[in-house]
Amino acid sequence: MKIAIIGNGIAGQIVAQNIIKKGQDFEIVMISKENHPYYSRIFLPHFISGDRTKKQLYQRDLDWYDKNKIQLLLNTEVAKINPQKKYIELVNSEMKITYDNLVLAVGSEPRKMSFGNPDVQGVFTLRTISDADDIVSYIKSHEVKKAFIIGGGLLGIELGYHVKNLNIEVTICEIFPYLLPRQLDQKTSGLLKKYLEKIGLKFVLGETVEKIVGSQTVEGIKMKSGQRIESQIIMEQLGIIPNTELAKISGLETDKGIIVNEFMQTNDPEIYAVGDCIQFDKQIWGIIPASMEQAKLAAAHILNEDPKPYTPSVWHTKLKVAGIDLTCVGSPSPKDEKDAQILTNIHPESYMCRKVIIEENKLTGAILMGLGGDSKYFINNVGKDVDIEQVKEKINE
Ligand SMILES: Cc1cc2nc3c(=O)[nH]c(=O)nc-3n(C[C@H](O)[C@H](O)[C@H](O)COP(=O)(O)OP(=O)(O)OC[C@H]3O[C@@H](n4cnc5c(N)ncnc54)[C@H](O)[C@@H]3O)c2cc1C
Repeated sequence: MKIAIIGNGIAGQIVAQNIIKKGQDFEIVMISKENHPYYSRIFLPHFISGDRTKKQLYQRDLDWYDKNKIQLLLNTEVAKINPQKKYIELVNSEMKITYDNLVLAVGSEPRKMSFGNPDVQGVFTLRTISDADDIVSYIKSHEVKKAFIIGGGLLGIELGYHVKNLNIEVTICEIFPYLLPRQLDQKTSGLLKKYLEKIGLKFVLGETVEKIVGSQTVEGIKMKSGQRIESQIIMEQLGIIPNTELAKISGLETDKGIIVNEFMQTNDPEIYAVGDCIQFDKQIWGIIPASMEQAKLAAAHILNEDPKPYTPSVWHTKLKVAGIDLTCVGSPSPKDEKDAQILTNIHPESYMCRKVIIEENKLTGAILMGLGGDSKYFINNVGKDVDIEQVKEKINE
């Protein structure tokens, strides 16, 4: 049986890993537009600051693919799928790759703003090693002293933190009136902002960019309010857009993402989709834990292991900035304050906050900032009935 996997990110990797665990009866081919064996995107900001070398980003070397008899086609872009004849066509190549099962693990692209002067140099997004290389070389060659980041989500803050560590003054702008609007409530977000300001980051909140100042290269930003901020580089961290184009032109059903059923099958049952590129039950994810769960499930279904149908992955994220430990699970606020129980343990002087939301006896959200805390308990119990006394103990321990 031949399984083709398009995409060599975490989702494609987990599918391949789970299939090879079952023995050598499968022929696997992995195809990637990028020219690298599997690497972690998580540490791209660490690579920019010099905290990690490029070698430390790689999670696999080429030998791993050889040893596991996986045919890896790097620097190879899939142009189209022919679901009727079960083959893949490549860009700039006559080669056709046949398959019995196909997995689309094609990820997502960074969302971008349109500024009206697209040719100005010094505007970047961060998704790939190649993006990180471009940012590093621009910072060096243009002797960047001030940087501007659009987007005050997790990636914007982590990137800002690492760029600041290069002795660059960093300003982060967020259109919402507070940071991490998806993960935090206003109060906890205020506490986080105080900590991040203490370590040297600057913020412009509740505001957005009107235009870039500079004709050849970035010289600054003009905000909609009229405020001007000097900067030699702009980095956009505005979230993701799932890659749906390939699926769409190949006749598969798409919306915001590639539409899959509870076994990760597209509308063609021989073609699966997993990771950042999918949409299930009107949701898209864009986080590693969800990609991993979906990939394991797809592999089990391909292997006829009769897996349980997908239940949407729990939203949980972690901010990786030195000195502050922040885990966010589920929703930061209840649907209805009146019917919810909100348990808190807050110590602003030490930037510590634990907040748990319980609705109809079920744990629906948790914010754990500072001093570790048993984040696994909250991740494992979100959506489940919980014992209030035990939750109280957990947030006070
Ligand atoms: C800087 C950064 C930090 C992050 N930090 C975290 C974190 O701390 N925690 C967390 O949970 N998530 C984090 N994420 C998000 C996480 O990396 C993604 O959720 C994850 O990479 C999704 O994996 P994927 O395999 O679905 O897609 P991807 O990793 O995007 O892989 C898809 C691959 O498919 C290739 N491809 C696409 N189209 C084609 C084609 N037509 N032909 C061939 N190849 C194709 C792409 O080039 C790409 O290599 C971070 C992301 C970034 C960018």
